[in-house]
Amino acid sequence: MKITLTKNPKVKPDFSKLGFGKYFTDHMMVMDYADGKWGEPEIIPFEDFNLSPATTCLHYAQGIFEGAKAYKDADGNITVFRIDENFKRMNRSAERLCMPTFDAEIAKEALFELIRIEKDWIPAEDGKALYIRPTMIGIDPVLGVHASHTYRLYIILSPVGAYYAHGLEPTKIMVEDKFVRASIGGTGEAKCMGNYAASLLAGEMAVKKGYDQVMWLDAKEMKYVEEVGSMNMFFVIGDEVVTPALVGSILPGITRKSSIELLRDHGYKVVERRISMDEIVEAYNNGALKEAFGTGTAAVVSPVGVIAYKGVDMNINNGKMGDITKYLYDNLTGIQYGKKEDKYGWITKIN
Ligand SMILES: *Cc1c(COP(=O)(O)O)cnc(C)c1O
Repeated sequence: MKITLTKNPKVKPDFSKLGFGKYFTDHMMVMDYADGKWGEPEIIPFEDFNLSPATTCLHYAQGIFEGAKAYKDADGNITVFRIDENFKRMNRSAERLCMPTFDAEIAKEALFELIRIEKDWIPAEDGKALYIRPTMIGIDPVLGVHASHTYRLYIILSPVGAYYAHGLEPTKIMVEDKFVRASIGGTGEAKCMGNYAASLLAGEMAVKKGYDQVMWLDAKEMKYVEEVGSMNMFFVIGDEVVTPALVGSILPGITRKSSIELLRDHGYKVVERRISMDEIVEAYNNGALKEAFGTGTAAVVSPVGVIAYKGVDMNINNGKMGDITKYLYDNLTGIQYGKKEDKYGWITKIN
């Protein structure tokens, strides 16, 4: 693989004030597709792209991305969590967006090399990590509405702290009953750019009303819970942990899948099924709704303290993190930060 190192390394930011996705490392991985095939991956200095204003992805959102994290554990090991799942999902997103798939092993090896080069950018403290953002865009400089013939796959890295400014404080979530995120047959299952553009207005409106995020309902009946902007949802109702089934419009989260496995292994009853807002309101009213939390690479395991629906705030677990949420948080991050045994083979050491 061709590697070109920067002549001007950046001054690193203060790792105690990282926020999310604001700083980028010195290098990136780039791999281009043209004439029906992928070229070699290359590592080059992090720099702006030179793109025609007519570029396909800039007009028709033919673009997909992924989110993963690299960690530095207490013994100084550099690790990644279930990265194969990310590249598999990215190839599924590529198929949905009419983009070429790629060899996940090649992309992974190039990523590992990039992370080794950028190892000093990985924050070592708990809760912090090096966020990995693989992205693929259609780059034909042509305005016709059809799939691009040329593509760029690239990976950038960003040292990050907590996703929410309030850290592990429970989030306040508003149920959105006017706009929808995705419908069956649409692109909700793919991590594609357009999904996020379409969700911004509702998100801004929720923030103006004092909430952190919106929770989406199904597009057909506006009745069943789907997910939150970048997190899959879980509800503890009675002695069951319920998470919406992957019906086709929900992003199949890797953290979701890992959480189901961890909770089941500990003996919790986890059910994947459709869950309606009526059921959640009823469970809240009769005291059966004990906890709610979201899962995602960026947000990790995030307790939900308030769910607002039809103008009523439901306060969950007195606005505190519940026991099952805490169990999951401790065990998932325990594996990710190398403090708990990884009996699942989810961690890959790359140093
Ligand atoms: C990325 C994402 C998630 C979380 O997926 P993970 O693989 O757990 O990071 C959930 N919902 C949406 C809409 C997402 O984009």
